[in-house]
Amino acid sequence: MQTKLCKIDRTNIGASTDVLKEASAILRDGGLVAFPTETVYGLGANALSAEAALSVFAAKGRPADNPLIVHVARPEDAEAFAHTTPLYYRLAEAFMPGPLTVILQKKPIIPDAVTGGLDSVAIRCPSDPVAHALIEVSGLPIAAPSANRSGKPSPTTAAHVFEDMDGIIPMILDGGESDVGVESTVIKLDGEGVILLRPGAVTPEMLREIVEDVRISSAVTEELGVGEKPLSPGMKYKHYAPTASLILLDGPSEAFVAYVKEQAATGFCVALCYEEETEALTAVPHLSVGYRSDIGAQTHRLFRQLREADALGADYIYAHLPTMEGGGLALYNRMIRAAAHHIEKIGKKVED
Ligand code: AMP
Ligand code: MG
Repeated sequence: MQTKLCKIDRTNIGASTDVLKEASAILRDGGLVAFPTETVYGLGANALSAEAALSVFAAKGRPADNPLIVHVARPEDAEAFAHTTPLYYRLAEAFMPGPLTVILQKKPIIPDAVTGGLDSVAIRCPSDPVAHALIEVSGLPIAAPSANRSGKPSPTTAAHVFEDMDGIIPMILDGGESDVGVESTVIKLDGEGVILLRPGAVTPEMLREIVEDVRISSAVTEELGVGEKPLSPGMKYKHYAPTASLILLDGPSEAFVAYVKEQAATGFCVALCYEEETEALTAVPHLSVGYRSDIGAQTHRLFRQLREADALGADYIYAHLPTMEGGGLALYNRMIRAAAHHIEKIGKKVED
């Protein structure tokens, strides 16, 4: 299959009506279209078609019990597909359109193939203008996981999608780089409270401004025990991993620099370092993830730099263990999983 890459100007969607119509026709025929969202690139299919959903799992090599998120144009469009609640609308008012996914009881119109057999469905209303226009023009709810091969770092550019999906899907819409860089925050409603299943740009602190009771699932920061059943099926799978082995270093900057230099003498490694450390690391292959204090930049660049380190041919990638505070929780969650929980304590721990 020939994969067509089509550029769309996010700031002038009107100029891309023909491309959007072509993409919509593919979706209506049961085909797959990759498209940009504000979080990462999605691999879209008609959420009302079991066959289309099955072809998403096949294209990604994704286990069939890991459910897909259904993307809608407006929060109230969820009514057709799920049982909403007043709490859903309070959250929607605060965070939609945007990087928040809410799990609700599903209505029968959503095929079991989309939800991996669960009786709930994940609903998201993306703010990216290309994603929004694709849902509007197609007139469909779009089931979309991240547009990478299963287990790989999620794509934040159309070129990343092309790397993974060339020859596998008919069309990729190229709207430039995704803003956030990691997937949406996923929450489950639980009475008057919510349970955070996957951290993202909507942080626990932001949720607590709307809902008093926000609990964080232990799977966000911990490794699942043997035989333990997660609240979100996706939590049990290896995720976000580069081909190289990623090792997270927990310690101060001087120890990080010294450790990486020592390792570089014994094999080919790439350091994912802070901008402040680039000078000290000139002798070692390194990629900056941004300034130490800039969690947003680090989140934005994480998946891109993991792919870049692989492209450099690294056997090992060394990176800082991020903070779990605020927006750091999403970064921490992705990095410990990309590293398969491989953390090394280095140097003398300093209190920041
Ligand atoms: P991705 O499609 O790669 O963004 O991953 C979607 C995430 O949402 C996965 O971790 C899924 O397990 C989770 N998810 C989607 N639908 C549900 C659901 N109905 N119940 C629990 N988790 C869900
Ligand atoms: Mg994914």
